[in-house]
Amino acid sequence: MTNDTWGRVQQDLLKAVGKNNYVTWIEPLEFHAAKNGVVRFHVPTNFIGNWVSRNFGDQIQQHLLRAGVSAERIEFRVPSHQPKRPAAMVAAASADHRSVPAEVASSPARPAARLAANADLPGAPLDKRFTFESFVVGKPNQLAHAAARRVAEGGTVSFNPLFLYGGVGLGKTHLMHAIAWQLQSDRPDLRVVYLSAEQFMYRFVQALRENGTMQFKEMFRSVDVLMVDDVQFIAGKESTQEEFFHTFNALVDQNKQIIISADRAPGEIKKLEERIASRLQSGLVVDLHPTDYELRLGILQHKVDQYRDSYPGLVIQNGVLEFLAHRISTNVRVLEGALTKLFAFGSLVGREITLDLTQDCLADVLRASDRKVTVEEIQRKVAEHYNMRMSDMIGPKRHRTIARPRQMAMYLSKHLTSRSLPEIGRRFGGRDHTTVMHAVRRIEELKAVDNQIAEDLEMLRRMLEA
Ligand code: ADP
Ligand code: MG
Repeated sequence: MTNDTWGRVQQDLLKAVGKNNYVTWIEPLEFHAAKNGVVRFHVPTNFIGNWVSRNFGDQIQQHLLRAGVSAERIEFRVPSHQPKRPAAMVAAASADHRSVPAEVASSPARPAARLAANADLPGAPLDKRFTFESFVVGKPNQLAHAAARRVAEGGTVSFNPLFLYGGVGLGKTHLMHAIAWQLQSDRPDLRVVYLSAEQFMYRFVQALRENGTMQFKEMFRSVDVLMVDDVQFIAGKESTQEEFFHTFNALVDQNKQIIISADRAPGEIKKLEERIASRLQSGLVVDLHPTDYELRLGILQHKVDQYRDSYPGLVIQNGVLEFLAHRISTNVRVLEGALTKLFAFGSLVGREITLDLTQDCLADVLRASDRKVTVEEIQRKVAEHYNMRMSDMIGPKRHRTIARPRQMAMYLSKHLTSRSLPEIGRRFGGRDHTTVMHAVRRIEELKAVDNQIAEDLEMLRRMLEA
């Protein structure tokens, strides 16, 4: 079989399964190889592989046969060069890692039966890196962290459920895995199950198909600690919500701990049933705030310490981490990605990681998190840097320790924003444009002779983004 043949079979399948199904399930399949009667496809996630295998496996085989390809078996694999996404793995591994057969979902070898036999707990695998030890605590996440710690002690259930919410990449999944790891090691007697809401739905739909709803119910009602990640996923999916609600109530009634995460507060999840939203709010609801500069710097420093082993001898110039913490203010995942890239690049070229190297190497990442600099931001940064009050930045004081930074802020405003001199003057407490012009000239002169000023300017400029 060739890619062309598969292309034609795909067109047939499009007619057979309809556009929506096609786009979601058939289009992502990439023909990989046909050997000894086994036709293998690459899939982006195990979830898709399993779903396709179960729901479209027979149809695909038939259409292949019609195109002259007789496949005894078809297999779906996530190519090994792709990083595994634990969140996307189908509930195949029991929480104690006895088995992970979800790598290959083959049809028609009844994978469902095999999975069910192997996995007595419906959880998803945990990420080894996501522990409390590797979680950096700062103001924005300290409450969530403290609540997670408490739950991880596995003592009396004091708030049920624990509901963690916050934007993408702020550490929700990390905290949940950390709870699971700790419970597994301290309280091996407890049945701890972690899975995403998507996996919950998938298990449920599968149970419906196979008349296994009784087992499904029993299985979920027998756990001691249930964690469901990204619960916003089940919004609008009525029967899944219904089942989730019953599972939830049954466990709460038995005083079993439940931990839920979502990307927003329970009341703000659209299409989530009222009664579910209100039950979700009946325990402790804590949010993870967007990271601040200190937390980002802390996380970077922590990561650098971890990298030291893998990249011995790699030197990072002072200011690089600060620069990154300032410039990448989106989510922690992006921050981590940037650092990984930087280390790989630095070790490849065998050079100290300087600000220049950082800017070269991360140009695209930095551009993506680029935003327009305002005069106010410049004033704030400069004031911060020189430990002076914002009010003095725009006030009348003329002492050198205040006037000089003010001039630098004017200079930076001229160079980093598109504001005109009169506009800049107005933002500095209604000063005249000639004052700004004078400041710009003065700093230009000083820059040439005073290293400290030149360095400060450069640092500030980079922070504010060149
Ligand atoms: P979420 O589930 O909220 O989208 P994750 O838990 O997947 O976010 O976190 C994204 C990445 O950022 C993970 O690699 C995680 O380890 C890391 N991360 C997030 N917050 C922290 C933190 N406070 N300390 C260390 N790493 C963190
Ligand atoms: Mg997550």
